[in-house]
Amino acid sequence: MGKVLIIGAGGVGQVVTHKCAQVPEVFEEICLASRTLSKCEHIASQINRPIRTARVDADNVPELVHLINDFRPDLVINVALPYQDLHIMDACLETGVHYVDTANYEPPDKARFCYDWQWAYQERFKKAGLMALLGSGFDPGVTNVYTAYAFKHHFDEITELDIIDVNGGSHGHPFATNFNPEINIREVTAPCRHWENGVFVETAPMSMKKTFECPENVGTYTIYRLYHEELESLVKHIPTIKRAQFWMSFSENYLKHLEVLQNVGMTSIEPVKYNGVEIVPLQFLKALLPDPASLGPLTKGKTCIGCVIRGTKSGKEKEYYVYNICDHEECYREVQSQAISYTTGVPAMIGAMMIMKGLWKGEGVFNMEQMDPDPFMDALNKHGLPWKEKFL
Ligand code: NDP
Repeated sequence: MGKVLIIGAGGVGQVVTHKCAQVPEVFEEICLASRTLSKCEHIASQINRPIRTARVDADNVPELVHLINDFRPDLVINVALPYQDLHIMDACLETGVHYVDTANYEPPDKARFCYDWQWAYQERFKKAGLMALLGSGFDPGVTNVYTAYAFKHHFDEITELDIIDVNGGSHGHPFATNFNPEINIREVTAPCRHWENGVFVETAPMSMKKTFECPENVGTYTIYRLYHEELESLVKHIPTIKRAQFWMSFSENYLKHLEVLQNVGMTSIEPVKYNGVEIVPLQFLKALLPDPASLGPLTKGKTCIGCVIRGTKSGKEKEYYVYNICDHEECYREVQSQAISYTTGVPAMIGAMMIMKGLWKGEGVFNMEQMDPDPFMDALNKHGLPWKEKFL
């Protein structure tokens, strides 16, 4: 039993808070803190258990330290934005608590994300005897654990990995993103990188596509190759991988809107002067778009996210697919959120639970595939994200 501090009261924060509250034997006390106190209070009011709330600016380390020293959690789950990662890690080091997040650090003024900044904390976390678990969402997160599970149980060597993220849901808006619009648009408009024979190869954004038939009648979708952060850690920790690619589905409608917004400069992160005020076009666009947390009651359909893995076992070539299918409406009935927030929030809770229960232990900074996948895979089945496997 222990205490958890959740930072970030957005779409994902809502799910994490609900899911931690469902496991009182592990999360005895919960505090939800964010920049806007009313958002924390709104989430707390949905839950049938006392949830403490607080206002915090997670870019302000002394404020974070004060909150942590006041509440004394065993662990902090960071589901604010990637910009806050390093500040929250600094505060965890200063106060001696474990750290979990779902997205790697990204500097606000550069559309670039990579693990280098957080991996650089390895010695400091090790010296403090603390664990920082990076990327405990779905992708990154569950996809890393799926790969580690495949490696542990089904392969002697993994040579190819395709991570395939299909969202077959629709929310009825002409254009909206399922998670933070700023982060989502930065991710999909970045140059694509995939791993090929020991190096990352760069190609134009969205320049490679194919169709993918999801299992269980979820449907057939066009998927586009993107760069995604788990490729960086997976090829480091499983060095036999020769090719690793990440694919995501997008509707024609989403792509049409995105192209126009890009063409007119609305997705730029370079500040522009408007009526004497400096504004960042992408941040202004975020203010106009629907809040992802508001999509919950509107979204229908299913997500299907999984890994297709190729390699060898006992000298024979093998192909394996492990996946989860999640229904937007069922998620909403359970935690009042759509499936994108749900598929991120559940693994964040499970990652924290692994540390709180002592099932995952370590001193330093870790990616998910470095841990034993078995207890995590077990917990996915019990906490709302059951998985299935197919030998192709
Ligand atoms: P939202 O924008 O809905 O929520 C982010 C929350 O963070 C907001 O409520 C905001 O607070 C809070 N926040 C932002 N800046 C600060 C700050 N300086 N101090 C305190 N709080 C702050 O985003 P999502 O919930 O959709 O995403 C949360 C995280 O999950 C992101 O990092 C995203 O990249 C990650 N993610 C990971 C996925 C995965 O599979 N691994 C998939 C989807 C998302 P307020 O509203 O109070 O101002």
